[in-house]
Amino acid sequence: MSLEKYHSKRDFTKTTEPKGYVRKSTVKHPIFVVQKHAASRLHFDFRLEIDGVLVSWAVPKGPSYDTRDKRLAIQTEDHPMDYATFEGVIPEGEYGAGAVMIWDEGTFSNLKEGSLSDALKAGLLEINLKGHRLEGGFALKRFRVEKNKAQWLLIKMQDDKADAHKNPVSTENRSVKSNRTLEEIEKVYLK
Ligand code: MN
Repeated sequence: MSLEKYHSKRDFTKTTEPKGYVRKSTVKHPIFVVQKHAASRLHFDFRLEIDGVLVSWAVPKGPSYDTRDKRLAIQTEDHPMDYATFEGVIPEGEYGAGAVMIWDEGTFSNLKEGSLSDALKAGLLEINLKGHRLEGGFALKRFRVEKNKAQWLLIKMQDDKADAHKNPVSTENRSVKSNRTLEEIEKVYLK
């Protein structure tokens, strides 16, 4: 990914077009976001910054702190970086119609040798999350690819943050950004 050509054609002292940027994959602290999404079926969108985009999975039951749980995570299309700050309502008739809440956000690090993009290709990510609600090691393992749809499992790794009794998916139902519930987001943005 490069904006070289785009930049070489333009003189930014004259045009007001945006310079834009590709976020380098070598950032020390890539970000993650988890969005709670009241689409036709409620789910959690788990997004990790890898190579300048948000690689995304839809997790119907959301993440768990219990190392015995294997949460289905269906990979969806990569999203742009600025999607990480999106909270609002996708209108009726549009793809993914329904309210979107920023349920958690923070930074993460790679627990494995090698790059995140290689781990993604290989189908096994092991990462350490530093969020408000999600902390510690999580693994994502690809177990099936069907019709270009990759199915993964999101699993809490064994560490000092693992806790079978902690269940933020059911105890935390407000945005870490606005402190609103999904119902409140719907009311605010549908006006
Ligand atoms: Mn979604």
